[in-house]
Amino acid sequence: MTVYAGPVFDMAVNQFRVIADHLSIPMDERDRLLLPKRAITISCPIHRDDGTVAVFEGYRVQHHLTLGPTKGGTRFAPSVDIGEIAALAIWMSWKCALVGLPYGGAKGGVRVDLTTISKHELEALSRRYMQEMIPFVGPHTDVRAPDMGTNEQMMAWFMDTYSMYQGRTVTEIVTGKPVSSGGTLGRLEATGRGVAHLAKRVMKELAIDLNSATAVVQGFGNVGSYAALGLHQFGLKVIAVGDHTGALYDKGGLDIPVLMRHAGAHGSIAGFSNELQFDPAQILTLPCDVLVPAAMERVIDAQVAQNLQCRVLAEGANGPTTPDADLVLEKRQDEIFLIPDILCNSGGVVVSYFEWVQDLQQLFWEEEEVTRREYHILDRAFDQMAARSKADKIPHRTAAMAIGVEKVRAGKNVRGLFP
Ligand code: GLU
Repeated sequence: MTVYAGPVFDMAVNQFRVIADHLSIPMDERDRLLLPKRAITISCPIHRDDGTVAVFEGYRVQHHLTLGPTKGGTRFAPSVDIGEIAALAIWMSWKCALVGLPYGGAKGGVRVDLTTISKHELEALSRRYMQEMIPFVGPHTDVRAPDMGTNEQMMAWFMDTYSMYQGRTVTEIVTGKPVSSGGTLGRLEATGRGVAHLAKRVMKELAIDLNSATAVVQGFGNVGSYAALGLHQFGLKVIAVGDHTGALYDKGGLDIPVLMRHAGAHGSIAGFSNELQFDPAQILTLPCDVLVPAAMERVIDAQVAQNLQCRVLAEGANGPTTPDADLVLEKRQDEIFLIPDILCNSGGVVVSYFEWVQDLQQLFWEEEEVTRREYHILDRAFDQMAARSKADKIPHRTAAMAIGVEKVRAGKNVRGLFP
């Protein structure tokens, strides 16, 4: 029995079971690898603009501290619960280990519908969430970052709140900050850029001509918008984009820079064009060369997987594909090249790591250096995943996760069990 429950947590458990079986990990080692080290649940009371008090529930799950501090984003969304946050923390662990960062995984979140609170209330909630967590976090204990529903401004509030309590500026407590307050050049773009970079690499390997290729992107937040922009800049036509408000389709290719400006000003793609409206339920199964799910977890189930018409599936979101869908994709491996989430979207945490290093050293890099190093790490992890998949005759997701789990396991075994 654990407190963690729900479909997303079950998904992380199922995936781990596949990996543990593949690696022949003894049963008595499995819980130690899988179950989170710590989970913190807090109540965040704030004054609302109308003078009443409202309380929001917040969480932080720290998966393991074996390889260094825990690292991971913060999600503000109505769907947030402890099981989802735990699953996302576990995935962060395999992701950080796969790409070779000295971190365990973490994730945090607040259950809140952002459409129902004002900017002033959001600041109060962000600050209270940080303040309640102070005993449990630190630049060498747990370093947070953005995720769904959070942004640079909120990272600045987190950093400021922590710093006010310490009596000095501690930029290294959080990554994804604005460049003006200890952030790094290239972090805002990092996740989406990484997705586009890996998709381009795969297209080259599959001899797909970039200038006649098409892409579809589900989700137009930070990850989806910069992935779409990257693909657009590589010459692809981004024929469809969707977000929580709807979808747009243009067979000639959407003008992504203009759409980004619209979404930046209005908070979503809504109102961009009436003629280009499209049914969002159909976006994932449109024929295209590259499909980027960059919204929620579990959007590709077995039925959607069966109907996918892409050649490259570049997972920008965490956990977009269910284990049932993975079984379908395994059979379709020769048609659809999967770039699994823990590799595909890892550019974000890779550049978060660069931000943390720069903050600790107070020595800042040029954007060109940030991006060059990001791509180097992504390419190295891609090579390792591809080689492992070939050698063990296993799907890409199994290979990527096996490498991550193996590294965490090796770290635990060499350190031993205390006392
Ligand atoms: N939330 C992002 C992720 O899921 C970024 C985490 C980070 O930068 O620490 O990978």
